Amino acid sequence: MNNSSGRGVIIIVSGPSASGKGTVVSRALEKSDDARVDVRLSVSMTTRGIGKGEVDGETYYYVSRESFEENIARGNLVEYNSYAGEYYGTPKDKLDSLLDSGSSVILEIDVNGARQVLEQYPDAVTVYILPPSFQELEYRLRNRGRDSEEKIRYRLARGREEIPEARWYDYILINEIIEESADDLLCIIRAELNSRRRVEYKIDEVLATYGKDEKND
Ligand code: 5GP
Repeated sequence: MNNSSGRGVIIIVSGPSASGKGTVVSRALEKSDDARVDVRLSVSMTTRGIGKGEVDGETYYYVSRESFEENIARGNLVEYNSYAGEYYGTPKDKLDSLLDSGSSVILEIDVNGARQVLEQYPDAVTVYILPPSFQELEYRLRNRGRDSEEKIRYRLARGREEIPEARWYDYILINEIIEESADDLLCIIRAELNSRRRVEYKIDEVLATYGKDEKND
């Protein structure tokens, strides 16, 4: 693993509904072994119903409102937000155990959640996934056949409001070709693991070895 500090990085991935961020993230996770990037997904908790092709415990943890509110009450959510009348949040116990294991962790969350996470983890890296156009976004929303006309309109309007927020993200990926976006996401993680601010402490460790004869130490 090309990560000299042994510590993972939090990568926040946001983007409008149907921008393809979920697909980009799963493809990046599938390719991560080959790319020699130790990265895992933080599975969010939600009160929304399970969608076509989704798996409980993999796509989300699907819970009742009571259970979600109980998690809020005992401080087990790093961040949470309500979207289209449903709660979405990042379970703290799960995130901490992944970070403790040394893996980098992808959080697929909206811009409000991103702000809350940055307050607690200021060195988290932010990546915004943009669709090539609104026409493409609408096509993808209709094509996945999960939402009513009203929900599709809502998601498009939320996208229009949210996309300007991409301006304060560290990286922007225009998701035209999934494979390329997934590769780019892995490249970002690799580069971040080697960024000066993460590896700077190594300079002194290396300097301390100056003039020392390994055989006599
Ligand atoms: P969807 O219903 O399309 O899966 O997700 C709706 C929105 O909720 C998306 O913008 C998605 O990024 C966001 N979301 C998913 N999980 C979380 C989470 O844990 N926290 C926050 N704040 N937003 C989330």
